[in-house]
Amino acid sequence: MDDLTCPNCSEEDDLLGQRDGDAITVTCQKCGCVWDRNLIPRCPSCGRHDMREALQAILDKSRGTQLSIQSMRVIYLCPDCDATKLRRWLDSNTPLPPDELPV
Ligand SMILES: [Zn+2]
Ligand SMILES: [Zn+2]
Repeated sequence: MDDLTCPNCSEEDDLLGQRDGDAITVTCQKCGCVWDRNLIPRCPSCGRHDMREALQAILDKSRGTQLSIQSMRVIYLCPDCDATKLRRWLDSNTPLPPDELPV
Protein backbone atom coordinates (compact mmCIF):
# COMPACT_ATOMS: atom_id res chain seq x y z
CA MET A 1 0.00 0.00 0.00
CA ASP A 2 1.93 2.98 -1.22
CA ASP A 3 0.91 6.34 -2.63
CA LEU A 4 -2.63 5.86 -1.55
CA THR A 5 -4.66 8.84 -0.58
CA CYS A 6 -8.32 9.14 0.14
CA PRO A 7 -10.03 10.92 -2.78
CA ASN A 8 -12.41 12.55 -0.34
CA CYS A 9 -10.37 13.72 2.64
CA SER A 10 -6.78 13.09 1.47
CA GLU A 11 -6.06 10.77 4.36
CA GLU A 12 -2.93 8.73 3.69
CA ASP A 13 -2.51 6.51 6.71
CA ASP A 14 -5.83 5.43 8.05
CA LEU A 15 -6.74 3.34 5.02
CA LEU A 16 -7.84 -0.26 4.97
CA GLY A 17 -7.29 -2.37 1.85
CA GLN A 18 -9.23 -5.55 1.23
CA ARG A 19 -8.45 -7.87 -1.63
CA ASP A 20 -11.47 -9.04 -3.53
CA GLY A 21 -10.39 -11.26 -6.41
CA ASP A 22 -8.28 -9.09 -8.68
CA ALA A 23 -9.54 -5.87 -7.20
CA ILE A 24 -8.49 -4.18 -4.02
CA THR A 25 -11.14 -2.25 -2.23
CA VAL A 26 -9.85 0.53 -0.04
CA THR A 27 -11.81 2.03 2.81
CA CYS A 28 -10.82 5.29 4.43
CA GLN A 29 -11.34 4.78 8.12
CA LYS A 30 -11.39 8.49 8.68
CA CYS A 31 -14.31 9.56 6.47
CA GLY A 32 -15.75 6.21 5.35
CA CYS A 33 -15.10 6.68 1.65
CA VAL A 34 -14.75 3.43 -0.30
CA TRP A 35 -12.99 3.03 -3.62
CA ASP A 36 -11.34 0.43 -5.79
CA ARG A 37 -7.64 0.54 -6.15
CA ASN A 38 -7.77 -0.35 -9.80
CA LEU A 39 -6.61 1.53 -12.78
CA ILE A 40 -9.22 3.78 -14.24
CA PRO A 41 -11.57 1.51 -16.14
CA ARG A 42 -12.62 1.89 -19.74
CA CYS A 43 -16.06 3.14 -20.50
CA PRO A 44 -18.29 0.09 -20.94
CA SER A 45 -20.31 1.91 -23.60
CA CYS A 46 -17.78 3.62 -25.86
CA GLY A 47 -14.40 2.32 -24.66
CA ARG A 48 -12.90 5.68 -23.76
CA HIS A 49 -9.93 5.51 -21.42
CA ASP A 50 -10.18 8.96 -19.94
CA MET A 51 -12.93 8.32 -17.46
CA ARG A 52 -13.14 10.93 -14.72
CA GLU A 53 -13.32 10.18 -11.03
CA ALA A 54 -16.31 11.41 -9.11
CA LEU A 55 -17.77 10.73 -5.71
CA GLN A 56 -21.18 9.22 -5.24
CA ALA A 57 -23.02 9.26 -1.96
CA ILE A 58 -24.23 6.06 -0.37
CA LEU A 59 -27.48 6.88 1.33
CA ASP A 60 -29.28 5.00 4.00
CA LYS A 61 -32.32 5.55 6.07
CA SER A 62 -31.33 6.64 9.50
CA ARG A 63 -34.42 7.50 11.48
CA GLY A 64 -37.90 7.33 10.09
CA THR A 65 -37.84 8.32 6.46
CA GLN A 66 -34.88 10.66 6.60
CA LEU A 67 -32.17 9.68 4.17
CA SER A 68 -28.68 10.51 5.22
CA ILE A 69 -25.30 10.09 3.62
CA GLN A 70 -23.64 7.03 5.10
CA SER A 71 -20.47 7.11 3.11
CA MET A 72 -19.15 7.76 -0.33
CA ARG A 73 -17.66 5.77 -3.11
CA VAL A 74 -15.68 6.63 -6.18
CA ILE A 75 -17.34 6.17 -9.51
CA TYR A 76 -15.96 6.77 -12.98
CA LEU A 77 -17.80 8.92 -15.47
CA CYS A 78 -17.28 8.93 -19.21
CA PRO A 79 -17.04 12.46 -20.67
CA ASP A 80 -19.29 11.30 -23.51
CA CYS A 81 -21.74 8.82 -22.04
CA ASP A 82 -22.06 10.36 -18.58
CA ALA A 83 -21.71 13.98 -19.67
CA THR A 84 -24.69 15.18 -17.64
CA LYS A 85 -23.55 13.55 -14.43
CA LEU A 86 -19.98 14.63 -14.96
CA ARG A 87 -21.00 18.24 -15.50
CA ARG A 88 -23.10 18.10 -12.36
CA TRP A 89 -20.18 16.72 -10.38
CA LEU A 90 -17.75 19.31 -11.71
CA ASP A 91 -20.20 22.16 -11.15
CA SER A 92 -21.33 21.23 -7.68
CA ASN A 93 -18.26 19.44 -6.31
CA THR A 94 -20.54 17.60 -3.94
CA PRO A 95 -21.13 13.84 -4.09
CA LEU A 96 -23.63 12.72 -6.69
CA PRO A 97 -26.82 11.11 -5.46
CA PRO A 98 -26.99 7.33 -5.72
CA ASP A 99 -28.51 5.75 -8.81
CA GLU A 100 -31.15 4.08 -6.73
CA LEU A 101 -32.51 5.20 -3.43
CA PRO A 102 -32.96 2.56 -0.76
CA VAL A 103 -36.56 1.48 -0.45
ZN1 LIG B 1 -11.21 9.83 3.69
ZN1 LIG C 1 -18.41 6.36 -22.90
